[in-house]
Amino acid sequence: MKKRSAIPLVGNAMLLVIVVNVFGQSSVTPADPWFRVDKLRDGVWRISEGDIDNMYLVAGRDSAMLIDTGLGIANLRDFIKTVTPLPLIVVNTHAHLDHSGGSYQFPRVYAHPDDFDMIRFFGKKQFRKYTVSSLQVDLPDSLKFPVYDSLYNVNLLPVRDGQIFDLGDRKIEVIHTPGHTAGSICLLDHKDGVLYSGDTNNGLVQLHPPDALPLEVYLQSLEKLANRIGFHTLYPGHDLPFDRDFIREQIECVRQIISGECDGVPYESLAGARVCGYGRARVSYDPEKIAVSSR
Ligand SMILES: [Zn+2]
Repeated sequence: MKKRSAIPLVGNAMLLVIVVNVFGQSSVTPADPWFRVDKLRDGVWRISEGDIDNMYLVAGRDSAMLIDTGLGIANLRDFIKTVTPLPLIVVNTHAHLDHSGGSYQFPRVYAHPDDFDMIRFFGKKQFRKYTVSSLQVDLPDSLKFPVYDSLYNVNLLPVRDGQIFDLGDRKIEVIHTPGHTAGSICLLDHKDGVLYSGDTNNGLVQLHPPDALPLEVYLQSLEKLANRIGFHTLYPGHDLPFDRDFIREQIECVRQIISGECDGVPYESLAGARVCGYGRARVSYDPEKIAVSSR
């Protein structure tokens, strides 16, 4: 996918910055096939969309959970039916358009209410068309969502920290981890000992966009995860899985930014944004938005 500059479609500076960040963080060309499925363990699949983002499908005895809905430019709803016939519970880890873009294809979607407004915005017809044109992807008709041109409002249901989804023989817990966005959540699969972490635990976590919270808030979320027992593996929204020790490296990375030990280097061409690294972890940030008081 080619890197794109801002296109004055949205009329909202904050959202434009988010869009540029999402489209600017990959350098892949659209993949063929558009959806690629990898079985990770019994009843668990990773669905990679155009080599841009990871979605996950987790099956229990009675129902399956779809974790994130990708960009929403292809027919995800029917594709999922080819993987499992189980009734679906759909959850967005956060609002960004490469994670919630396909939510309009499902009757109802769970997410944290702090991200509701942004999910609704990215679900609009105008924005879906913008996504397609920005990616320069020409999908065959067989892959397109049949009512692509209809305006659908995403029907959102709230999740709360500690909420448990029971898929039958598999329980999945919501952990609220604000930072990357205010409504970012992770999903802890108690059966497999796996944490589905959206954009909270990628190799590079973006904390510089306007919708991100101060680094001190993100650090609290990382410490909350590090103190949780019950998982050994992270399945992130981008990149390959990490072991849980990765969270300690992220914590040290953020701690060094907050303490001034790491002054960072400019992050791509984004004015003011900087990036620091520690071990396998990298974090981009806005030097003006470190402490909670700067929120
Ligand atoms: Zn994101």
